Amino acid sequence: MKKYILIRMYFSVCCGRTSTAYIERKQAVMKQLSDKDFTKSHALLRESNRCMVGGVSSPVRAFNSVGGRPFLAESGKGSRLRDVDGNEYIDYVLSWGPLAMGHAYPAVVEAVQKAMESGSSFGVTNESEIRLAERIAAQFKSIDLVRFVNSGTEAVMSAVRLARAFVGCDYVVKVEGGYHGHSDSMLVKAGSGLAARGIPNSPGVPNDTTKTTIVIPYNDLNAAKEVFDECGDDIACLIIEPLPGNMGLVLPDSGYLEGLRQLTKWSGSLLIFDEVMSGFRAHIPGAQQRYKVKPDITILGKVIGGGLPVGAYGGPAEIMAMMAPEGPVYQAGTLSGNPLAMAAGIATLDALLQEGVFASMESRMLDLCKGIKDAAKETGVPVYQTRVGSMGCTFFNESGVGNYSDAASSNTETYAKFFWGMLRRGVYLPPSQFETYFMSAAHTDADIDKTLQAACDTLKDL
Ligand code: PMP
Repeated sequence: MKKYILIRMYFSVCCGRTSTAYIERKQAVMKQLSDKDFTKSHALLRESNRCMVGGVSSPVRAFNSVGGRPFLAESGKGSRLRDVDGNEYIDYVLSWGPLAMGHAYPAVVEAVQKAMESGSSFGVTNESEIRLAERIAAQFKSIDLVRFVNSGTEAVMSAVRLARAFVGCDYVVKVEGGYHGHSDSMLVKAGSGLAARGIPNSPGVPNDTTKTTIVIPYNDLNAAKEVFDECGDDIACLIIEPLPGNMGLVLPDSGYLEGLRQLTKWSGSLLIFDEVMSGFRAHIPGAQQRYKVKPDITILGKVIGGGLPVGAYGGPAEIMAMMAPEGPVYQAGTLSGNPLAMAAGIATLDALLQEGVFASMESRMLDLCKGIKDAAKETGVPVYQTRVGSMGCTFFNESGVGNYSDAASSNTETYAKFFWGMLRRGVYLPPSQFETYFMSAAHTDADIDKTLQAACDTLKDL
C-alpha cells in the first residue's frame, strides 16, 4: 500500500499535474482554443473518466504531455478526422500510423464489409491469411514465413521468445528510447508514452525480467561493441527500430545499422528489426530496404492491418520453424489472422503498392517538412526537422537529434504550444514531442498548403 501511494505521488509529479507550470500551460491552451467548441468532447470525457482508466484505452490519448484535454473522435474520411463537436482536422496522426490510404478508404471499407458478411472469425486458417502473408513475404527479402498476431506488442514478445529459443540464451539488447510495445522485458528506458511521461521503467515489471535487458544509446556503435565484447556469448538478440519513431523520428547515422548487423553476426545473436512503424512507411517495404541491411527477424504491425488490430513477425524458414506447431516455441491466439484484419491489410497494401502511390506520399511529406523548416527559419524558432518516407517530426531543438538524450533535450513546452496552435487551425499533429507524424495517400496538395499556412501562423505566435 505504501509503495502504491509513493508510486501515485511519483506519477503526479511526473505528469506535472500539481505544478504551476502545468496550470499555466493549461490556461494558455484554453485561451488559444477559445474559438473552438469542445463541449461534447469534454462532456464525453467526463463520462469516460467515470468508467475507463484515465478516460482512455491507451495513455498518449490523454494528451498529458501537451496539457489540456483531448477531443473525442466521431469519424474520419480521407485525410480528415472529425471530432464529436463537428471540428474537422487534417490528420497527421492517422491512428498512429496504420491508415496509409487515409480514413475509410473505399476499397478497405468494401473489403472489410465483404469479409464480415462471410463471418468475423473462424479459429481455423482462412485464405485471406495466406494472401496477406504472401504479399509480405514477396516484399521483404528477409522473410520466408510469417506468423500473424493481434498487435505489435504481441509480435515483439513472441519474436524475442523465438530469438531466445533459437540462440539458446537470455540477454536482449535494446536501444534507449526505442519502443517495442509493452511486454515486460521491453519496458526499459522505452520511448513513446513512457518518454512523454519521463518515466524510464514501469512499476509492476519484475526486476528479474529486466535484468536480461541491456540498453544502449542509438547511433553509438562503440557502445554496442562494448556490450557485445563483454557479453556477446549471452546475447540472444538485438532488437531495434531501425528508424526510431518513438522518441520523435531519429535517423540512423551512416554505417550504424550495418555495424549492428556485423556485431550480431559475429556473436551468433539475432538482429530483430521492429518495423511496426517503419514498415511500408520508411520505404517499400521498410527501413531494411532503404538502408540495405537484412535482419534475421522482422516485426510488423500498423499498415499491414490497414487500421484493424494486427501484428506479425517473420523471417527465414530455418528460424521460424522453431515456432509451434513446427517447433517447440509456444505462441498462439484466438483471433490471430482475423479475416477482417487480413482483408483490410490486403486492400491497403494493394492500393499502396500501386505505381506512384508511395512516391507521392513521400514527396508530400518532403514538401511539408521543408515548408515547416523554412517557416521556422523565417520566424526564428529553432527546430530540427527529420523526415524519411511518409514519416516526419519537428523537434523544438537548437541542435541535431541523433539519439534519445538529444530528443529529450527538446523544448516540450514549445511543442505543446505548437500542437495546440495547429489544432486550433485545423491540423492534428501527435500530442507529444516524442512521436512521429504521418502522411497518407489521401492527403492533397491543398492539405499541405493549408497545413503550412497554419504552421507559419502558429510559429509566429510562439
Ligand atoms: N513497436 C513499435 C516500433 C511501435 O511503434 C509500436 C506501437 N507504436 C509497437 C511496437 C507496439 O504496437 P502495438 O501498439 O500494436 O502493440
